Amino acid sequence: MSDDLLWKVPEGEHVKLKKYDPGYVHPSFKHDEADEALAQLGREIDELQELLSAAQHHSLLMVLQGMDTSGKDGTIRHVFSNMNPQGCSVTSFKVPTPEEAAHDFLWRINNVTPPKGVIGVFNRSQYEDVLVVRVHNLVPEDVWQRRYKEINHFEKRLADNGTIILKFFLHISQDEQAERLQARVDEKDKAWKISSSDFVERQYWDDYQQAYEDALSQCSTNEAPWYIVPANHKWYRNLAIAQTLVDTMRKYKDEWKSDLEERGRKELEALQQLRDSGKIKGL
Ligand code: ADP
Repeated sequence: MSDDLLWKVPEGEHVKLKKYDPGYVHPSFKHDEADEALAQLGREIDELQELLSAAQHHSLLMVLQGMDTSGKDGTIRHVFSNMNPQGCSVTSFKVPTPEEAAHDFLWRINNVTPPKGVIGVFNRSQYEDVLVVRVHNLVPEDVWQRRYKEINHFEKRLADNGTIILKFFLHISQDEQAERLQARVDEKDKAWKISSSDFVERQYWDDYQQAYEDALSQCSTNEAPWYIVPANHKWYRNLAIAQTLVDTMRKYKDEWKSDLEERGRKELEALQQLRDSGKIKGL
């Protein structure tokens, strides 16, 4: 179902962001029912996460990227509000520290990939190294150009080792960003969210869109697909992402459950043997 709510980028597709409407809303989702729908999906995410955690077969990595104000923080707050905090880790990637910068660009990412049983959320990610780094010429072109391939290899390695990968690009329009930035200036209680650098980065809008188009085109693979999320409407963005997460995890549900049933049977057998051998008394 989630395939109709947002756009999964097929491997090899040449993405042109202008073709995707950031204000899109699928008619099956209604604004006035959004809170209840999201709560329902949140409960299902929690249930599925419990199975993921117990089965210890897979980890799940959710990458969130988007222009400033596109809603990366809001997505995390709303989509995971019903989840057991033990099952989730969130990492926000900032300007690399001197130690991080002294290593290859994937070093800091590799250090925090989610282990089996855990949902890891990346608020910004390895993609900053082909986005902000490219837009501001922080490394020579031949260096960032080869990173697409390096990212694909890295993500393939994770996927081959049991990581389910979902990458969401939160697609907002330039006008929507202007409104969100202006709201931070106008509303005193939102002023703490102002980051003057957001206003500077906005000047590079077209360069960023182009850098995003290349990242989405070159790094959407079957094992680590990119999804373009219409994100002008915050309520819709949350629902589309939550539904995609649920649909993806549901595919593994039977496998996780049958593993757990098998494990339960084995434990019961082992207990019976201990009882039969007289090693445990009572209970
Ligand atoms: P956020 O905007 O994510 O809420 P910040 O205001 O601290 O948080 O912004 C983090 C900044 O770090 C962003 O401007 C982002 O482009 C930058 N950044 C992240 N990764 C890198 C990187 N690898 N190289 C340079 N800058 C980076």
